[in-house]
Amino acid sequence: MANENVVKANAIVGATVVKALERRGFEAEYVPTGADALKRILELVPEGASVGIPGTVTIRSIGALDALKARGNTIHQHWGKMTPEERRIARDRENSADVFLTSANALTRDGRIINIDGTGNRVAGMAWGGENNGFVLFVIGMNKLAFGLEDGIERARSATIPNAIRQNEPTACTKAGQCVKCSQSGNEYGMCRAILILEQAVKGRRYHVILVGENLGY
Ligand code: SF4
Repeated sequence: MANENVVKANAIVGATVVKALERRGFEAEYVPTGADALKRILELVPEGASVGIPGTVTIRSIGALDALKARGNTIHQHWGKMTPEERRIARDRENSADVFLTSANALTRDGRIINIDGTGNRVAGMAWGGENNGFVLFVIGMNKLAFGLEDGIERARSATIPNAIRQNEPTACTKAGQCVKCSQSGNEYGMCRAILILEQAVKGRRYHVILVGENLGY
């Protein structure tokens, strides 16, 4: 069980970050647990909406995928075994779904949402939803919080080692145990190829951030 002082501190910090996000045009709220976040996802995602879920451990860890599927929402994802062509099509469908449901690699305390991507589909889906251009719903654990932009980018890069292990990518950082800035050496296994910093809600699009007072994903 979480320490009660940590629970109180997370709520105080969470309220401050929510205000910072709102100043930047994002809808935002703080909830204490992953179970609360799941409840809110089911309220915020319309029944019957298609939902694109990119490579996110957070969303899967709270059971959102199964809960949405069980309710009848159509899920688009490129997770698991697929041919390269099936994966390409699935990524396109994720990005043009009614709702793009994802986490983030880092969230600064002043409300900037930071993501690093190797393929580019995830950061593209966060910025632009094609013809639909609808609704981006973020679920972000407290472990993703960073103090400023530089710290946020470093925090985002720190997710690369477990992601590389998950995807069986032999990146230089998985061998070194830290980022060795392989992007400057043309490393073919580098996973930090595109960085998106959402400074404000992108014009004409709805964003909602659920900040969760627990560690979720990596
Ligand atoms: S070593 Fe390369 S892949 Fe690993 S975190 Fe650094 S830039 Fe990203």
